[in-house]
Amino acid sequence: MTEFEQRRKAAAGGLGARKVQALLVSSLASVRYLTGYSGSNGLVLLGESEAHFFTDPRYGLEATQNIQCKVHVAKKPLLDEAAGVIKRKKLKKIGFEPAWMRVDEYRRLEEHLPSGVSLVAAGGLIEELRKVKSMEEIERIRRSVLLNSEAYARTMRGVHPGVREREIAAELGFQMRRLGAEKTAFDTIVAAGARTALPHAQPTGHRLAVNELLLIDMGACLDGYMSDMTRVCFAGAPPKRVTQLYRAVAEAQLAAIDAVRSGATTVKVDGAARSVLKGHGLEAAFVHSTGHGLGLEIHEGPRVAKKDKSKLKAGMVITIEPGAYIEGFGGVRIEDTVLVTANGCEVLTPTSKEFVNL
Ligand code: ZN
Ligand code: ZN
Repeated sequence: MTEFEQRRKAAAGGLGARKVQALLVSSLASVRYLTGYSGSNGLVLLGESEAHFFTDPRYGLEATQNIQCKVHVAKKPLLDEAAGVIKRKKLKKIGFEPAWMRVDEYRRLEEHLPSGVSLVAAGGLIEELRKVKSMEEIERIRRSVLLNSEAYARTMRGVHPGVREREIAAELGFQMRRLGAEKTAFDTIVAAGARTALPHAQPTGHRLAVNELLLIDMGACLDGYMSDMTRVCFAGAPPKRVTQLYRAVAEAQLAAIDAVRSGATTVKVDGAARSVLKGHGLEAAFVHSTGHGLGLEIHEGPRVAKKDKSKLKAGMVITIEPGAYIEGFGGVRIEDTVLVTANGCEVLTPTSKEFVNL
């Protein structure tokens, strides 16, 4: 049995509990998870004993060669074609993913289904399975993380005062692709000076100046799998207040990493980072959650956040990324990609966390 068949079997095993006979999977990341399809127009109808994959003629050849479940190459909207299969198979209860279906698609689907067929919201079924990664997936994430760090190292050789934020972001993306990445995992964040206080700053034409912080948050997508890392450095010799801020965040990050293990709740990991920052009087400066799962998507389960009580399991891959942001002054975030293991975790990100002075 291939890994895709195993995943479809595991997903099909969850249909009963949702009281549906089949699930329409429209999240492209989940479609890729179940079939390997990496194009932009795919849909899966996952039944208890068989799965149907739908795409349009642009991907027809690729799909019939590579995808082992029943492939339908449709000239009409994929949901119309899927409705035809539901009708033929006389299925009555169909699950759908509310987070991944537009209202107009839902209405269209309803119109095309025979009366007596009910649509049931059944979101999160595939996402739940995707949280725990297989060996193969862990290998892919590991390679993505290594590539990301290598792109960072190559780019940083050319980073010095005078270089624009946008140029740094462009170079990071270029290096990732040269190293074999499909694309960046998200729009690279590069911020200098007081703008580092904006957790999700878009790079601008600002030139890095002496005595400025520089924050870079970057990720690569390699063979479908994401990586995510944030590093902060300083142009020149940092004043004491900056060094203290950096040390506080670094301490919080290590405390959270220390708390990661199979069986630990995500709220506990988040709390470990939060209490260190509180000890430094920075509780209010930490404005986001400690981390998130990643895999086929840059943000997936589990969330490592204040109110999230899900339990970590071996094989989950999460980020640990506390930060502290002071308006008008600057911010620091340190982020690694981490693999949860039975007794603790493995930090996959190899890039040093020493406070580098450019
Ligand atoms: Zn990030
Ligand atoms: Zn992240």
